[in-house]
Amino acid sequence: KTYEDLYKFSVNNSDDFWGELAKTRLDWYKPFSQVSDCDMNSGNIKWFDGGKLNVSVNCVDRHAAKHPDKVALIWEKDEPGNTEKVTYSQLLAMVCKISNCLKDSGVKRGDRVAIYMPVSPIAVAAMLACTRIGAVHSVVFAGFSADALAQRIQDAGVETILTTDQGVRGGKVIELKKTVDAAVQKCPSVKRVFVSKRTGENAPKTNLDIDLDAAMKTASENFTPEVMDSEDLLFMLYTSGSTGKPKGIVHTQAGYLLYASMTQKYVFDYHDGDIFGCVADIGWITGHSYVVYGPLSNGATTVLFESIPTYPDPGRYWEMVERLKINQFYGAPTAIRLLLRYGDSFVKKYDRSSLKVLGSVGEPINHEAWEWYHNVVGDGKCDVVDTWWQTETGGIAVTPRPSGPNDKIIPAAPMRAFFGIQPAILGSEQEDLQGVNEGALCIKNPWPGMARTIYGDHERFMDTYYRPFPGHYFSGDGAKRDEEGFIHITGRMDDVLNISGHRLGTAEVEDVLDEHPDVAEAAVVGVPHAVKGEEAFAFVTVKENFSRDHETLVKELQGLVRERIASFAVPSQMLVTEGLPKTRSGKIMRRILRKVAAGQVDDLGDISTLADPTVVSILIRDSNFVF
Ligand code: ATP
Ligand code: MG
Repeated sequence: KTYEDLYKFSVNNSDDFWGELAKTRLDWYKPFSQVSDCDMNSGNIKWFDGGKLNVSVNCVDRHAAKHPDKVALIWEKDEPGNTEKVTYSQLLAMVCKISNCLKDSGVKRGDRVAIYMPVSPIAVAAMLACTRIGAVHSVVFAGFSADALAQRIQDAGVETILTTDQGVRGGKVIELKKTVDAAVQKCPSVKRVFVSKRTGENAPKTNLDIDLDAAMKTASENFTPEVMDSEDLLFMLYTSGSTGKPKGIVHTQAGYLLYASMTQKYVFDYHDGDIFGCVADIGWITGHSYVVYGPLSNGATTVLFESIPTYPDPGRYWEMVERLKINQFYGAPTAIRLLLRYGDSFVKKYDRSSLKVLGSVGEPINHEAWEWYHNVVGDGKCDVVDTWWQTETGGIAVTPRPSGPNDKIIPAAPMRAFFGIQPAILGSEQEDLQGVNEGALCIKNPWPGMARTIYGDHERFMDTYYRPFPGHYFSGDGAKRDEEGFIHITGRMDDVLNISGHRLGTAEVEDVLDEHPDVAEAAVVGVPHAVKGEEAFAFVTVKENFSRDHETLVKELQGLVRERIASFAVPSQMLVTEGLPKTRSGKIMRRILRKVAAGQVDDLGDISTLADPTVVSILIRDSNFVF
């Protein structure tokens, strides 16, 4: 069957499609009685109701039984060239030991457990141990401040935290335990803190601490898994906070796992024996679905990347690809744009012939970055998949592959719906826009990986995703359908510019600015204008050796936008600056730039997810030099 046939079947016979896959791809204690029972108007969503299973069994036990010595995890440690491998049977032992430690200390089914650990086998085993005992994990990126961690602990009523003494990223030590202790000061709910050793330096101690490594030494390697219902909570995870206060998104057992598993296999054309290299942190949904649950449910070898793309130099990713013989590489546009600045030599010195598929996720990828990824990193031989999805969708929803192997891939667009997903582009009157058109990206039908709620706030869930376009899931992003029916992402709806009645996505203007050879990165926001309603304001950073004057550059950029888009799109103000505000997951926070552009720097909103707060003062300083 062709992709088209299968796709049509998947949306027209959704229950047959997902039901059959759930039966054959997952191991069940008890079969489900109903494939789906979803009401997108009330937000009551159930998949595989009545079924009983355990996620850790699906990710570990069944593979350990078949091929105990196959490598499950390759830990690419921060220290260059240092790797540790964990086989499926070793992973099973680790998971069972941690499960015993958790249970012995009083952690029960349904409890929320915070994991604040670097990307590492112990962190993955901790996630899986939670699933084994039926606890709900909440992984918090091990780089968030004590306040951000405390907020997440309080929101979820966490009693148990797993952490390490310290972390290391890019050669820098991060005081994880110290941060946990500071957070716990504000969180009386916390009863215990499991601490594992990463550096072995003297981390501070409190009377809540349990030495995880010591406890594991004596713990049993067997643990009978909890029998979970399909719709029991699996994990909660906070969104990146690009648009405001992060949302504690809830995913459940069977639907999420099946969707992560299917997308990992088919989007990346994963085959048995491949080495799967997703470089996301486990603190983000990409790490959950494509470092942990997707690959492990498929019995794959998955890479855990603890470092950063520029350590010890900008060749880190490609040196690792050569050494580990990675077949699928999955990263973010922010990193690709950063590495592109350093030129091709860091890529070309390494053998990348193992690569088959290159993935991108997190933000719209601009054309210049896409071409570089395709031509330089992939030597023009790999499929580049720009994958659109969100914490809320659980897995990839719009993506160039799967499709026929000879079906074309166009640059910088996610193009096609994944099986079972029916995207729709809706207009301001909530009308379903057909043909070539632009509007709000929605999904018309339920799918197994969809979020079930926002933890403790179902009203916010309904208001955000289901009430704006009744009967549809609303993504919050804007999209455009082209002449061939392919989908392009125009940016976030919150960021859409409305200039003299013309609606314009930020991504479109940024893409043009990014193409200028001197521009490293660009971010565009709207500022109020008495007559036009809004005007575009552009922030740009320049590449390494730029030394010309800013005014000339600004003129060139304005000319470029006029030529490529239209005069109305030309930013009326531009700021050449040193850095852009980003979330800790590497996304540009345009809401902060909007405030800077409007001169409202005293009221920046929730900045707990901002990666580097000093950027804001740099922006304020530079804003005296707006052109
Ligand atoms: P918050 O919801 O808290 O504002 P966030 O939306 O950044 O944060 P995530 O769930 O991590 O949190 O990111 C999902 C968003 O990332 C998408 O809604 C979209 O805006 C953007 N995104 C992800 N992949 C792509 C892509 N391939 N192309 C364009 N945008 C993408
Ligand atoms: Mg979002």
